Amino acid sequence: MQLNLATLVLLDIYILSLVGVLTLHAWSRGRDSTLGYLAAALLVSAVGTLLASLRGMGIDWVPILLGNLLVLGSAGLAWTSLRVFAGRRPSRSGMLAGAALWALLCLCPAFYASLSARILVCSLLMAGYAALGARELWRRRRQLEVDIRPALLLAMIHSGFYTVRGLIDQGVPFTADGGPPHFFAMVVLETQLYAIGLAFVTLALVKERAELRYKQAALSDPLTGIGNRRAFVEAAERLLADCARRRRPATLLLCDLDYFKQLNDNYGHAAGDHALAEFGRILAERSRQSDLCARIGGEEFVCLLDEADSVTAQSVAERVRREFAELPFVADGQLSVSIGIAEARDADFELNRLLSLADEALYVAKAAGRNRVELYRAAPCESVVS
Ligand code: GH3
Ligand code: MG
Ligand code: MG
Repeated sequence: MQLNLATLVLLDIYILSLVGVLTLHAWSRGRDSTLGYLAAALLVSAVGTLLASLRGMGIDWVPILLGNLLVLGSAGLAWTSLRVFAGRRPSRSGMLAGAALWALLCLCPAFYASLSARILVCSLLMAGYAALGARELWRRRRQLEVDIRPALLLAMIHSGFYTVRGLIDQGVPFTADGGPPHFFAMVVLETQLYAIGLAFVTLALVKERAELRYKQAALSDPLTGIGNRRAFVEAAERLLADCARRRRPATLLLCDLDYFKQLNDNYGHAAGDHALAEFGRILAERSRQSDLCARIGGEEFVCLLDEADSVTAQSVAERVRREFAELPFVADGQLSVSIGIAEARDADFELNRLLSLADEALYVAKAAGRNRVELYRAAPCESVVS
């Protein structure tokens, strides 16, 4: 079966429109601007391809000027889609620069009349936009936390294709019967594959990032920004197993703000929330990256110190206690924290047991007047006194 160019172009317009509408639908579900720009890029490209195909009808300015203007505008939108995904603000001037340059060049009769010059400029602009899209992702690869390799590969292939086209396509028909330029058929085919591929990888990127954000939200405490009980239990069990295997110490701080109910009653819930957020900040700042800090209850916090014995833990806890007591808004002595400490080896590296030992120490701190740090000490073996 043979496909003529008109059929391929029609297929091109159909695919761009279909993928564009599907992307628009995906955008309407979550209003993710990455998908919004991509849908716009695909739909504008469909219209541009339609106009660009209207050759030989006596209205050359429509395919040459308008068709290519829209195709370049679409490339600018596709670049913006990746830029927005990478967390940057859209640049309207950058997005329209390719189309604007095209309009300006078309005012020059020599350029307008030269097919090879038009192909060179249009191809290099297309290649440039695709390369810029790849660059946006590459620059933010560490922050993005999702697998950007498929999108990078696709953008680089697209950029490479148009670079090659710009350098070797003279717009001369290759076929003996004077049929359409060979390269033009390849451009039409590549556009179809790129449109499908770009929509596919972008949807996958957006979905992966949304899942990651939901997961992070499910594991973090919105008030303090540190982990919640669920995150703590999952990570602490792994950390304790690891320390037990490597015979390294780990020590738990169990912190409970003192007379917190009174703070709420006397100064309002917002002041209470502020105190909680401040305590979370201090705890996170005084611990290391490998330690696990979490808010596990209303005004209860934990911090599991990785590879730290009780001596280190006591000094960390003491610093936290002092820093919290010195906060300006609790200077009148309204608020303080009591901290119970337990070493993992006393609990056989078992999390529930460790929590209950730290709770025993915390109880002692509360009973001894609050605003203090207490270490759980295993009862010495009873000696028989004769
Ligand atoms: P103690 O010194 O014995 O620990 O007494 P306490 O008042 O700190 O402890 P209690 O358990 O009696 O009160 C805890 C209070 O924490 C009660 C609850 O209203 C408050 N609380 C729990 N979650 C939040 C929260 O998210 N924000 C605010 N502002 N208060 C909270
Ligand atoms: Mg409490
Ligand atoms: Mg309390």
